[in-house]
Amino acid sequence: MARRRQLYEGKAKILFEGPEPGTLVQYFKDDATAGNGAKSGVITGKGVLNNRISEHLMLRLQEIGIPTHFIRRINMREQLVKEVEIIPLEVVIRNVAAGSISKRFNIPEGQRLPRPIVEFYYKNDELGDPLVSEDHIIAFGWACPHDLEDMTGMAMRVNDFLCGLFSGIGIQLVDFKLEFGRCWEGEDMRIVLADEISPDNCRLWDLNTNEKLDKDRFRRDLGNVKEAYQEVARRMGILPENGAGGDMKGPETVQ
Ligand code: C5P
Repeated sequence: MARRRQLYEGKAKILFEGPEPGTLVQYFKDDATAGNGAKSGVITGKGVLNNRISEHLMLRLQEIGIPTHFIRRINMREQLVKEVEIIPLEVVIRNVAAGSISKRFNIPEGQRLPRPIVEFYYKNDELGDPLVSEDHIIAFGWACPHDLEDMTGMAMRVNDFLCGLFSGIGIQLVDFKLEFGRCWEGEDMRIVLADEISPDNCRLWDLNTNEKLDKDRFRRDLGNVKEAYQEVARRMGILPENGAGGDMKGPETVQ
């Protein structure tokens, strides 16, 4: 048992120093925030569910050749990941109008978009993560044109794959957010998928009823947030046996 040095605490996760150089431990909290911190709460067991869901999705994506930071899950709340330099962009892919795009362009929520749309937001809490153009990204040096091409290409492949995976379990992938990082191996750099993929950063609607099975249940006070996350995990065939939340191991138990 070793207490590891905390490197960063975000809204839903904590990053600790990993056991070997070039690795980190990603710890999933139960904390939930919305509206850039305007609303906050705790969803007991959410971290356990997101750890499992994200592990499953990252592994499936690795199988189709998408490079990711994921190495392995350590326990109910933690996973070992590669240390990457996070690109300060949130990459959002949308198949169906909902949330901010519905507001911005006055499109009814639920209307299918003519084709998947990729958007970039600059990760900056003080500025409220503004929508940015590729020109902003290149001019301000957040990523170069080649990085952008890599990220867009990967985002589209992830979207195709996840749309199929979710539709197979009766879920419509409305939209989701990805983050990417630069992974250095000696002189070589490659862009890999980082962060997490979970109902915290996807909109997932039941295919038949359009019931929301994601963080909008928390954002919009719809109730049964944990139950919705559990339902996603159950359909994916990965619901932890105790339903989530039973193993509350803290970060100091990393081995
Ligand atoms: O709010 P908006 O409609 O722009 O969100 C689009 C998608 O990106 C949603 O699935 C949402 O969960 C995700 N997102 C996120 N983190 C943010 C903003 C959006 O995961 N900071």
